[in-house]
Amino acid sequence: MSSSVESAPVNAGDEPKDTLLQALVYLAEHEKVNYSVSSLVSGLPLVDGCLTPELFKRAAGRIGFGSSIEQRPLADIPELVMPCVLLQTNNRALVLLAYTRDESSAGASVRVFDPLLGRECVLPMASVLEDYSGFAIFTKIEAVYDPRAQPFLNFQRDHWFWSTLGHSSKIYRDVLVASFFINLFVLANPLFVMNVYDRVVPNDAVETLWALALGVGVVYIFDFILKTLRSHFIELAGKKSDVLLSSYIFERVLGAKYSEHPLSTGSFVSQLRDFDSIRNFITSSTVTAFIDLPFILLFLVVIIYIGGSVAWVPVVMIPIVIVYALVVQRLLQKSVAHTFAASAQKNATLVEAINNLETLKSIGAEGRVQRAWEKAVGLLASWSLKSRLLSNSATTFAGFVQQLSSVLVVIVGVYAIAEKELTMGALIACVILTSRVLAPLSQIAGLLVQYKQSVLALEALNAVVSKAQERPDGVAFIKRELLRGEITFENVVFSYQGEEQPTLKDINFSIKAGERVAIIGRLGSGKSTMHKLMLGLYQPQQGAVLFDGLDSKQLDPADLRQNMGYVPQSVSLFFGSIRDNIAYKNEWVSDKEVLRVADLCGVTEFANTFPQGFSRIIQERGEGLSGGQKQAVNLARGLVNSPPILLLDEPTTAMDNTSEARLLARLKSEVEGKTLVLITHKTTLLALVDRVLVMDKGRIVADGSKESVLQALKSGQLNIS
Ligand code: ATP
Ligand code: MG
Repeated sequence: MSSSVESAPVNAGDEPKDTLLQALVYLAEHEKVNYSVSSLVSGLPLVDGCLTPELFKRAAGRIGFGSSIEQRPLADIPELVMPCVLLQTNNRALVLLAYTRDESSAGASVRVFDPLLGRECVLPMASVLEDYSGFAIFTKIEAVYDPRAQPFLNFQRDHWFWSTLGHSSKIYRDVLVASFFINLFVLANPLFVMNVYDRVVPNDAVETLWALALGVGVVYIFDFILKTLRSHFIELAGKKSDVLLSSYIFERVLGAKYSEHPLSTGSFVSQLRDFDSIRNFITSSTVTAFIDLPFILLFLVVIIYIGGSVAWVPVVMIPIVIVYALVVQRLLQKSVAHTFAASAQKNATLVEAINNLETLKSIGAEGRVQRAWEKAVGLLASWSLKSRLLSNSATTFAGFVQQLSSVLVVIVGVYAIAEKELTMGALIACVILTSRVLAPLSQIAGLLVQYKQSVLALEALNAVVSKAQERPDGVAFIKRELLRGEITFENVVFSYQGEEQPTLKDINFSIKAGERVAIIGRLGSGKSTMHKLMLGLYQPQQGAVLFDGLDSKQLDPADLRQNMGYVPQSVSLFFGSIRDNIAYKNEWVSDKEVLRVADLCGVTEFANTFPQGFSRIIQERGEGLSGGQKQAVNLARGLVNSPPILLLDEPTTAMDNTSEARLLARLKSEVEGKTLVLITHKTTLLALVDRVLVMDKGRIVADGSKESVLQALKSGQLNIS
């Protein structure tokens, strides 16, 4: 039996010693910062269950530590910045505390905290140096203000998007410098042509021609190099921002309160995907077009200098293009918004259809979805056509103005030549420069749609990232890593968002640690909602949910849920093996523990019937297993690691009587000593509990020992509508 687990390509089951995390815990204790280990790492993309130096920075940030990774020889670290974390080559970390003298060894030595030993010790410098990677992490506590000072800090809060771009400010500074030269080089061509016409041709000065040509050639080579570098830099900055922003957005999505979760997966996904349009905008040639914009002024000055009155042409034409573009921009607003909405609708239809394909087909409702799809596609097509037509009109108009300007410059120029105010060469130079002045404008006119899309996408993302978070910045939770398991509801009133009637009304009860309670009641009476409140997925509008006497609002959600084994009513499994699904929360759960809960819930029995055993891959949504099998895996996932509080919501509805009886017998010893809140419609499961709460229409109508409540129900003393 166990061979099927052993054959699975899984870890040996020993939790890895995360020395970086231990180092951070040490530093936090050193600074007397309130923290809990699960709140430090919860939600972080740990690598093999451990922090990496980059993740260390993010974890440290959560408890108000600013940190930087720097390359620094060991001897160059001043004692002033200690304690600091030394990164060792074998993926370990040490906390350097001080330089000391060790009487036993002749050389210098250091005092360190070794996370592997879990204590401070003195080591010879040489032995630390042997493994030192050369990099150290320096941390410092950032200023913490209490709420009285907060009003002064509000203005300081950086915008998540712009401040991330700010991380690339050095790169953008280089881009600006490159742009300055690239735009200066633009002047080379008109000046060259002007001199050739005015000086070389009349005087037949071939030598001057070659000298000028050589100069221009050199300028163009530099221009080529600078342009290549500039686009490289822009892409680099774009990539950096993309990675940072994408992780930030996803972290905010996962970190948002569950009560804020989006109602439509498809439309939400489409909203997130629109981030792509922002990314393209900040990485593409758009940036260069905008950077080149101010240089229009430079060219205008040059035109005025060499062309005099000719300059009136671009001076008049530029505002015309700008005004036209602004008008189009306003018109675009509506069509771009509709394009987004239609695209979200299309996506929502697609995701919902694919998710429910089986049901759709079996009830024969494909036509209905097809109609919804075609409607969305039609809408999308017509609105995006409108957007493109508008934006094309701006480009075409800018092109028209550009050509018109050339002709006007020539006309004005010819009169100026007649008045001896202008030379032939200067006229040609002015023609070239005028078209150069208008070029970035027409480029930007062409980017209007993209610009509008990006602005809209940014607004949508703003709404996403500003959703209320479970762990808001600056909120210190009470450290409580292990709960005893006492649960109290005090005058709880709760209604789901947008609902007029409260789902739970005036709920008062207390469950002692280790007590086993069942909640029964008719469908829709609010039983599952009670579980969700206990999990902290929702907060009551009135009253409080307390654990061990502490308001759940004061507990870190990660700590709270770490103490709970929740088995939801509707089974949701993930893509991966059966084993992965049981140990989904914590990849480092030992095989022994996985096997224990699998035996308990009857997973082992059916897993052994598959040739791949526990490695059998379950598809998304648990496809590949029967309803009862899915439920067994669901249950095993909730029981893993024996948390002190168990919340089981109809754990056996899909099971046959024999499996249920077997499970019941095994569960009896499992729930011993734990707080159990069991929701069930089955009287057989009541064998697990001593006390029963009866719910009706969001109220508790009976609460007492199992026998007395069942007796009251039987004798009709309890009137449940
Ligand atoms: P069952 O025995 O059928 O599982 P239950 O007692 O677990 O029922 P709950 O799931 O707690 O019932 O739901 C209680 C009420 O809250 C129901 O009337 C339901 O319509 C409503 N409700 C549940 N979830 C939501 C939600 N996300 N948004 C709005 N209303 C909800
Ligand atoms: Mg329910």
